[in-house]
Amino acid sequence: MNPDAVEHPPHPPHVPPRTVLTAAAITLCAAAVEVVGSVRGGSLFLSADALHLVAHLGIFAVLLIPAARWHERGEDLAAIGVLALVAVIAAGIGVTAAEDLAAGTREAPHPAFMLLALLGLGANLTTAYLFADPAQTRWSFRAALAHELSDGALTVVALVGALAIELFGWRWVDPAASLAIGMWLGVWAVRLLLRRLRIGPRAWADASHH
Ligand SMILES: [Zn+2]
Repeated sequence: MNPDAVEHPPHPPHVPPRTVLTAAAITLCAAAVEVVGSVRGGSLFLSADALHLVAHLGIFAVLLIPAARWHERGEDLAAIGVLALVAVIAAGIGVTAAEDLAAGTREAPHPAFMLLALLGLGANLTTAYLFADPAQTRWSFRAALAHELSDGALTVVALVGALAIELFGWRWVDPAASLAIGMWLGVWAVRLLLRRLRIGPRAWADASHH
C-alpha cells in the first residue's frame, strides 16, 4: 500500500476547472481594459499591470493540473516553465520601466486613467475569493491566493501615484510604479523557483504534506 495513502486522504478534493477558468476570464477582461486605458491615457503602469495579469494566466494553467498528478515529471516541468516565463515577463517589465525612468522623456499620463488599476484589483480579489476553498487543501492554490492578495499593494501604489501626478505632475511616478510591478513579479517567481530547487518536486505538493 502506498504509505501516503495512510497519512493522507487518498483522493485530494477535486477543484472544478470552472473555478480556475472563471478567474482566468475575469483576469483577461481586466487586462484588456487596462491595455486600452494604457494607450488612451499614456500610462506605462497600466501596460505593465496588464502584462502582469496575463502572467497570472500561466499560473492558472498550472493550477488546472489535478492534485494527484503533481508528483509527475511533466507537471513539475510545466510549473518550472511557467515560473521561468513569469520571471522573463517580470524582467521585461522591469527593464522597460527602468529605461523609461532613466530617459525621463515620457509625459506624465492622465491620472484618471490610472484608476483603471482598480479593475485589476477587482479581478485579483475575485480570484482570491474563488481560490479560498481549494487553498485549504492545495499548496499551489494557497500560493496563488497569497500572490493575488499581495497584488493589492500595487493597486495602492497606482492610486497614490495617480494622486501625485494629479497634484504635482511628476513624470517619474508612472515608470517607477511600473518598475515596482516588475520587481514584485520577479521576486515572487524567483522565490518559488528557489523553493523548488531547495526541496524538489515536493515544493508543489498538497498543503497536507507540510
Ligand atoms: Zn500578480
